[in-house]
Amino acid sequence: MTDAATACCTDARFLLHDLPGHPEGRVRLERIAAQLERDGLAARMHALPAETVDPDLLARVHSPANIRMVEQVAARGGGYLDPDTYMVERSYEAALAAAGGAAACTRAVLSGAARNAIALVRPPGHHATRVRGMGFCLFNNVAVAAQAALDEFGLERVLVVDWDVHHGNGTQDIFYESPQVLYFSTHQYPHYPGSGSWEEIGAGAGRGFNANVPLPAGVGDAGFARIFDEVLIPLAERYRPQLILVSAGYDAHWTDPLAGLALSLAGYWRMATEVVALAGRLCAGRVVVALEGGYNLDLLGLAVADTCRALLGDAGPGPDPFGRTGWPEQPVDRVLALVKRAHGL
Ligand code: ZN
Repeated sequence: MTDAATACCTDARFLLHDLPGHPEGRVRLERIAAQLERDGLAARMHALPAETVDPDLLARVHSPANIRMVEQVAARGGGYLDPDTYMVERSYEAALAAAGGAAACTRAVLSGAARNAIALVRPPGHHATRVRGMGFCLFNNVAVAAQAALDEFGLERVLVVDWDVHHGNGTQDIFYESPQVLYFSTHQYPHYPGSGSWEEIGAGAGRGFNANVPLPAGVGDAGFARIFDEVLIPLAERYRPQLILVSAGYDAHWTDPLAGLALSLAGYWRMATEVVALAGRLCAGRVVVALEGGYNLDLLGLAVADTCRALLGDAGPGPDPFGRTGWPEQPVDRVLALVKRAHGL
């Protein structure tokens, strides 16, 4: 692997977790892979295979009882962790590989083997708390990546940017009392999973290191641009992260069937390039993106391709056949004022 390269983690085990008819299925990754091939992006990135996650690392993120439960549900052929969260016989294997894939990307970036990386993993992770899987998520891939950065490389400050339309309650939960991980999330609110108020700012030593930006349905590109400019960037500049992780959900696009925010592909492109630029200024460009949600299969490949272009440093995004929603955007002034006050910005 040459310096200053973008690594891309894919693995056939991520396809073993699948339930026909469920929105979080293997076809999501198949559509992404096809788009990256079509656009010549796969060939421009260094293929990084997933590792099975180190059991000790996983056990520093999730409780032993939780890990055992996921293993046992798979061992009896599958089942449900909650009404939304299926498991099949090989889901445990897929989840171990997904968490290991996010950790492998982090190691590639922190060792200098890659400048930045994208982990095209599933099952997704950001709803998985320390003690339970939920919301399509079994193990928390981004939390495992953050923990690997802290434990194996001695990092003290990791910023997680979560632009999935849903609040990453699991990531918040795992690092709620830690100043070593600053969790920043934009999400529709109120909406699944119910958490994510601006008042949830962390506790104990972690107080001030959890920043939620809860948004009404209908907030789109203009609102997100202001949130990044007025909250994320000043917070990050104050925190001085040594690594930026992204929980990259594409379900905040206006066409997503599961939610009601109004980003366009242009809005996602802006966020991705802002994060890359921020990392360039603050932490030698070190960014690891991990796939979370995104359920419009016709959009998902295009959106991920644009994020890859941002990581590669391309000047512009790919084509956008969807454009913008025709509806007026909801304003963000009120929530911006509350979040800024809560975080002393
Ligand atoms: Zn989501």
